[in-house]
Amino acid sequence: MARIAVVTGGTRGIGAAISRLLRERGLTVVANYGGNDEKAQAFTKETGIAAYKWDVGDHQACLDGCAKIESEVGPIDVLVNNAGVTRDGTLHKMSFDDWNEVMRINLGGCFNMAKAAFPGMRERGWGRIINIGSINGQAGQYGQVNYAAAKSGIHGFTKALAQEGAKAGVTVNAIAPGYIDTDMVAAVPPPVLEKIVAKIPVGRLGQAEEIARGVAFLAAEDAGFITGSTLSINGGQHMY
Ligand code: NDP
Repeated sequence: MARIAVVTGGTRGIGAAISRLLRERGLTVVANYGGNDEKAQAFTKETGIAAYKWDVGDHQACLDGCAKIESEVGPIDVLVNNAGVTRDGTLHKMSFDDWNEVMRINLGGCFNMAKAAFPGMRERGWGRIINIGSINGQAGQYGQVNYAAAKSGIHGFTKALAQEGAKAGVTVNAIAPGYIDTDMVAAVPPPVLEKIVAKIPVGRLGQAEEIARGVAFLAAEDAGFITGSTLSINGGQHMY
């Protein structure tokens, strides 16, 4: 039977590329999303991949959403924690709400989803959890104390949970993307983006599919010896 993968924020941007590629690799894929019904409906219409809406920052919603998927589709074998948001601003302008919202969704979402999916993976003796961090969690970024802290937290979360899953056949890894051509990066002002691209040794933004290939590699049946690691996919921008 095909493995079942849940991809949070899986209906657009990097998540949509991950959903598509995992399906191409033979998995049954379910995509979660947070609010953009129009994009989610268009994605499902185009791909046939079911989309389930809930806020990954809401603990109970994650437990309920995953229980619904397990009853309607089957047990979750692969979890890709991809959903994320930015609320940028320098510290002196950043509100507590902007801090909290990014921590709640980006880092809290990983905890909430792992709470829902990890116990079943352990019981069945097989699982893959792949958390999408960021180059800015590794290197920091001006105007992003909230985002950098949350993404850096994801890298610590990954290494700790990897130790808990190792003996039970559950691998937990992270990917740290560099700058990828999605709506999130389109929100960066063009003069700032030009300066960022100038610092990327390969001389361009990454494509969502280039992150998806990393996820598919870590999700594979024969990737069982890779756990607690972070795969940096950033065009050489930050060598960690
Ligand atoms: P996008 O902004 O293009 O898409 C974000 C996705 O996350 C959407 O599907 C969105 O759902 C979903 N989402 C946001 N908030 C929630 C929520 N509360 N509950 C459930 N889903 C939610 O982002 P990208 O594709 O660019 O980024 C994907 C991941 O990669 C993020 O974690 C991001 O931080 C990370 N990343 C991105 C980089 C880049 O350069 N683009 C670089 C490094 C890391 P909806 O469609 O409903 O809004």
